[in-house]
Amino acid sequence: MRDRTRNALTPWASPNVALASLIAAASLAVVSACSNGAIGDRPAQAPDGEFVAARNAMVDAYADISEISDPLVLEAMRAVRREEFVLSRDRGRAYREMALAINAGQTISQPLVVALMTDLLDLQPGERVLEIGTGSGYQAAVLAEITDHVYSIEIIPSLADEVAARLDRLGYDDIELRQADGYFGWEEEAPFDGIIVTAAPDHVPPPLLRQLADGGRMAIPVGPPGAVQTLWLIERRGEEYKRTNQGAVRFVPFIREGR
Ligand code: SAH
Repeated sequence: MRDRTRNALTPWASPNVALASLIAAASLAVVSACSNGAIGDRPAQAPDGEFVAARNAMVDAYADISEISDPLVLEAMRAVRREEFVLSRDRGRAYREMALAINAGQTISQPLVVALMTDLLDLQPGERVLEIGTGSGYQAAVLAEITDHVYSIEIIPSLADEVAARLDRLGYDDIELRQADGYFGWEEEAPFDGIIVTAAPDHVPPPLLRQLADGGRMAIPVGPPGAVQTLWLIERRGEEYKRTNQGAVRFVPFIREGR
């Protein structure tokens, strides 16, 4: 059977510690057990007791990964119910360290990659963050646990509709969503303290660079579609953009409208 996750947000090879840790942690087994617990201040949804232990075990394992040390990121990962963002057939695998297929041939990223990229943004409560590639909405929900100012753009109309309904149902109704080509960013809401791109373009879209606030951070994979790409952290200081290579990754292709 074809492994659909191979086209997903999958760590590939790594010249640096962050992604070496990712690969090591990807083999961690997360065992699901029963317990009850309230999740943040979101309204109660379908019973998720069976997933609480698995979610906590997943995040506990991140304690050994020095790159994911921000308590805000760890708490956000502990709060978001990933089982609500995957296809119903995959709920039992929601806390495994793997990307999973969602609709329209896209994927929900591996949780550890979500944690690492969120950590790179160094997001503070109250800051403004733009995501390109809403997909399932999982990454957007993680960001929304840290700040109330989350903007996310999805290019595929059916996914954009689906994710709007999901985020609303789960109580993430303050996330601003738009169906558009994220190449152009969200001019009216710029500047952003953080920009996170979850599909891989072959170059950094100039509008996104312009929409990054002074002092802002962008996490973006760049490289040829369907191949190995480089994850970059780009930090803006005035008109200077400092780029730091975060290692090799594999993301779904960045789609361009009308191309
Ligand atoms: N962040 C998502 C990952 C989704 S995969 C999650 O947490 O589930 C990447 C997503 O980027 C896909 O849904 C894809 O349709 C979307 N995408 C690709 N190119 C895009 C573009 N130019 N603008 C906006 N979204 C895009």
